[in-house]
Amino acid sequence: MTPIVFLMLVLGVIGALMILRNAARRQSLHGDGRSCPRCGAANRGHARFCAQCGSPLV
Ligand SMILES: [Zn+2]
Repeated sequence: MTPIVFLMLVLGVIGALMILRNAARRQSLHGDGRSCPRCGAANRGHARFCAQCGSPLV
């Protein structure tokens, strides 16, 4: 095995790991949204205001 092939193999493995990690993080962000401190309604992770009562999410 030449060093170049080995390097490309390592880079490929690192790239695959980063893609997997990004996918897992996105899924967790999407999965558990923010719950409203006032009414307890579940909101999306990027929501700034509650969809239920309109109070700001901290
Ligand atoms: Zn609310």
